[in-house]
Amino acid sequence: MANDKPKTVYRKTVYLDHNATTPVAAEVIEAMVDCLRNGYGNPSSAYSLGRQSAGRVAAARRSVALLIGAGEDEIVFTGCATEANNLALLGVAAACPAERRHLIVSAIEHPAVAEPARHLQAQGWDVTVLPVDGHGRVAPAAVAAALRPDTALVSVMLANNEVGTIQPIAEIAAEIAALGRARDILLHSDAAQAAGKMPIDAEALGVDLLTLAGHKFQASKGIGALYVRRGTPLRPILFGAGHEQGLRPGTENVPAIAGLGAAAELALRRLADGDGPLRERRDQLHELLVAAIPGLRLNGHPDARLPNTLNVSFPDASGQAVLTAAGDAVAASVGAACHAGDQAPSGVLGAMGLDPARAAGAVRLSTGWETSAAEIETAAEALIRAWNDVTAAPRAANRS
Ligand code: PLP
Repeated sequence: MANDKPKTVYRKTVYLDHNATTPVAAEVIEAMVDCLRNGYGNPSSAYSLGRQSAGRVAAARRSVALLIGAGEDEIVFTGCATEANNLALLGVAAACPAERRHLIVSAIEHPAVAEPARHLQAQGWDVTVLPVDGHGRVAPAAVAAALRPDTALVSVMLANNEVGTIQPIAEIAAEIAALGRARDILLHSDAAQAAGKMPIDAEALGVDLLTLAGHKFQASKGIGALYVRRGTPLRPILFGAGHEQGLRPGTENVPAIAGLGAAAELALRRLADGDGPLRERRDQLHELLVAAIPGLRLNGHPDARLPNTLNVSFPDASGQAVLTAAGDAVAASVGAACHAGDQAPSGVLGAMGLDPARAAGAVRLSTGWETSAAEIETAAEALIRAWNDVTAAPRAANRS
């Protein structure tokens, strides 16, 4: 009779939340484990064990610098992207003369920029929040119009975490250069979502400061970096010994830094052949969903968008209800992971002017380099079935 027992069917979850975090790459794990096993020396120690660790940190710095077209001396390792953003905003503020206390940010910044901006506002700074259009783009002309004689810093993210829209940073930099470079107005861009998904050249973008997050491109959590263009006036926000050119004290997290270096090398190798694997899976998913769900709407820019990010609004259903009905088949979220428990409508979609029903129906699906076509088929099938289940009851009630 043992055969009569129903068998538990274990389904593998299709992971489509690479904008929340990414699986740690095999190369990264190898680099980190090697450090943990063999490289425990303090990089500041003068003997060989210390020098070896310093060598690992230096090699990782070169790799990270290469990923974004920067010099090694322009990379400051931090504990995460949040810390890098705080260092950028608060560090510029600390270095600024008292008469320059105007900051410009976009309306769709991650809290890791929006909150330090609010903190500065509470300290007496004037903060201009730039609107975005229906695709989530900031107009470079709006930046130009907002610049003032007392503007110290403009901070606009490179790519948005919820809808993937890529901002015209080089054009924004050109506007600042035309009007403000003589006044030393600085430009910061949070590239936490962009790194590893699109080529980044800090020089070509014209930024002074740029934020990276290790765990968004297959390094571990607990490591980030801030690009600081040579000569940028910046003060530390933590105080201690003189690590990281005096900008970020604290003994270096050597394993995580080595892992970040390995992730940067992997990202560079992959991007050298384009972004096909990300983009093809994303577009395959979009096509499957569009074909089965009349009224499905794309949120974000149709073209200027991260190649892995698909934010869609399901009609007549809340995004959360669809994800709940899909159960463990698909790992995705209705917005940023840090607001996952939050039922409030997304501030990003609100800033883009989406009506409440469309904003409530939104789901963010984000592919990774290792996402397979078969996984996309499984995920699409689960999401379509979930949407049908969620909308079936109201449809039946309407008919009766
Ligand atoms: N900036 C952006 C655009 C992000 O998407 C995130 C994370 O979601 C962060 C900053 C913060 O990253 P972390 O939580 O790793 O500090």
